[in-house]
Amino acid sequence: MCGIVGYIGHREAYPIVIKGLQRLEYRGYDSAGIALYDGSNLNVCKTKGKVADLKTKSENENITKGSIGIGHTRWATHGVPNDVNSHPHYSNSGNLVIIHNGIIENYDSLRKELISRGYSFKSETDTEVLVNLIEDVQKKENIKLGKAVQIALNQVVGAYAIAVFDKQKPNEIVVARLGSPLAIGIGEEEFFIASDASPFIEFTQKAIYLEDGEMAIIRTGEEVKIRKIQGDKMVDPYVQELQMNLEQIEKGNYDHFMLKEIYEQPRAITDTYRGRMLVDKGIIRMAGVDDNIEKFLNAKRIIVVACGTSWHAGLVAEYIFEEYTRIPVEVEYASEFIYRNPIIYKDDIVIAISQSGETADTMAAIKLAKQNGAFVFGVCNVVGSSISRETHAGAYTHAGPEIGVASTKAFTTQITILSLIALKIAKAKGNISKPDYQHHLSELALIPEKVEKALNSNEHIKQVAEKYMSSANFLYLGRGFNFPVALEGALKLKEISYIHAEGYPAAEMKHGPIALIDEKMPVVVIATKKGHYQKVVSNIEEIKSRKGKIIAIVTEGDENVRNLADYVIEVPDTIEAFTPLLTTIPLQLLSYHIAVMLGKNVDQPRNLAKSVTVE
Ligand code: GLU
Repeated sequence: MCGIVGYIGHREAYPIVIKGLQRLEYRGYDSAGIALYDGSNLNVCKTKGKVADLKTKSENENITKGSIGIGHTRWATHGVPNDVNSHPHYSNSGNLVIIHNGIIENYDSLRKELISRGYSFKSETDTEVLVNLIEDVQKKENIKLGKAVQIALNQVVGAYAIAVFDKQKPNEIVVARLGSPLAIGIGEEEFFIASDASPFIEFTQKAIYLEDGEMAIIRTGEEVKIRKIQGDKMVDPYVQELQMNLEQIEKGNYDHFMLKEIYEQPRAITDTYRGRMLVDKGIIRMAGVDDNIEKFLNAKRIIVVACGTSWHAGLVAEYIFEEYTRIPVEVEYASEFIYRNPIIYKDDIVIAISQSGETADTMAAIKLAKQNGAFVFGVCNVVGSSISRETHAGAYTHAGPEIGVASTKAFTTQITILSLIALKIAKAKGNISKPDYQHHLSELALIPEKVEKALNSNEHIKQVAEKYMSSANFLYLGRGFNFPVALEGALKLKEISYIHAEGYPAAEMKHGPIALIDEKMPVVVIATKKGHYQKVVSNIEEIKSRKGKIIAIVTEGDENVRNLADYVIEVPDTIEAFTPLLTTIPLQLLSYHIAVMLGKNVDQPRNLAKSVTVE
C-alpha cells in the first residue's frame, strides 16, 4: 500500500530515490518523504501530496545531498495524509529514521507503553511507534541496530516492509519484511532497496527478494547478511537475475493492473477485516460505528448514495442490511438523489460509498443529506479523501491503491465492510442469535481462501471468453443477493470490452428481455445453491428452450445446472449473503479476458476515468 526506496553506495542517493518513488507511486500517492545522510548530517524532507511535490520541496530546502538515502510514497492507514504523518519518521533521539509499508496492529498498546516510559510522538502513525520501540530496545540493551530491529519486530503484530538507518552507524541500512514486499538490488559497491525492482532496474539486474519473516543488514563493502527475524537463523542470500522490463515490474508480472487487482482480492478482503473482526472473541470493532452506535440502533432508515460499481455494492448492502438489521434501506444513484428533492429525515443514516472518496455526485449528495440533518457515514478506499473528511464518520476499505479504471477489489472490499457493519448492528439489536453470528464471522474469515479457489477457474474462463468474445450482446441474470452481481458483471463487460450487456433480476427476464434471446445471445446466470436456486434453474430452462447460450456460475459440485448449461463455472459454497464476494470473481475475469482478446485497453478504457470528480 506504499512504496519504499533506499540507496547506499557511491552515487548521489537523491535522484535514485526520487525517480524510484515516482515509479512506485502506483502503490500510494497521498504523501511522500526522503531522508538523506551527507556524511555528517541526517536531513529529512516530507510533504503531503505526490512525489513531484516532494521533489519541489526538497530542492527548495536544499535537501538533495548524500550517498545514503531512504524514501517513501505513502498510502495512509493510520493518520491522515499530512506532512507530519508522512514518512520517514525520526526516533525521539533523532538518531534513527524509518520508512514503513504496512500496518502495525498492536501499535496502540506499544505506544501507551512507550509514552509511560517518557517517549513522545509527533504523528498519529503506527510507524513512529515502531521506530521508537527499536530505539527503546537499542538503549535498554545497548546493542547494535540490527539486533534492536530484530527484538522490536518480535514484539510487533502486523505487516511490514521497513528500512531503518542509524546516523551513529552510518554505513548500514537494516531492512525487514513480513507481509509487504521488499527487494534488494545488488550493484558494484552499492545497494538498492525497494518495494519492487523498478527503482533500480537500470543500475543492476541482480536482486534478492526477502522472504516473509526475514531481515537483512546492508552494509557498504560487505555481503548482504540475511537472517530470520524469529529464531535468528542465518539465510543464504539467493540472488536472482532480473529479466523484466519496467512496466511489467510495476504491474508485478501481471499484464494489466486490472488483472493484478482481481488477484489481490484475497489479500484486500483480509486487509479490510484485519484488526476489525476478532473471530475468536466474537467481536467486530469499527470506531466509526462504535462511536455512533446509538444512531445506528435508532435509525428508521438507511439511504445508500453511490455511483457505478459502488452503487452495486450498495445494492448488495441493501439485501444484507435488511436481512440482518431489519432496517429499511434505499439505494440511490447519487446523481439522481441530488436533483429530485428527496425526503431526508433527521434519524436517517446516509451511507456514502466511493472508492476514490472524490466522486463529485456522491459529495454533492453528502452535502444535501447533511443540510437536512441526517447522519452521514462514508465508505471509501482512499484515506484522507474529500468524502472521508466531509462525512460524520466512516470506515476505510483498506483495499490498497486501485489503478485499473474498472473497479474490482474496491467492490468486494466495500461489500466486506458493509457486511461487517450489518452484522455488528444485527448483534447489537439482538436480531441474530449468538451461534449464527459466530458462524457468520467464521465464514467471513474463510472468504479470502474461497476467493483464491474461485480464481483457480481462470483458464476455464479464458475458454468461455474465447467462445463468446464476438457476441454483440450479453445478458446477466441473478436473484436476491446476486441480482446486483449480475448488474456489476454487465457493467464490467461494458466498461472494458465495449460489448453491450444488460443485467436483470433473473425472474424479470420473462417480463421483457426474454424477447432478446436467440441462439446468438450468451446469458450469464448466477445460480448458486442457496436462496432461489430452484427458481433460477427454471429461468435457465426458459433460456434453453429459446436456444440462448448459458454460462452458469454455480456452487461447487452442482450437477443439475451442468446438464442444462453450455458452460459452468464453479465457486465454493458459503453463506448466501456472502456469495456476491465469490460469484463476482468469475464475472470480473470473463470481462477481462474478453476485453484482452478484443485488443482493448483494459486499464484505461475509452471515455472513463478512475475518480470521477465532476458532477
Ligand atoms: N501504516 C503506515 C502509515 O499509515 C504505513 C502505510 C503505508 O504502507 O503507506 O503511515
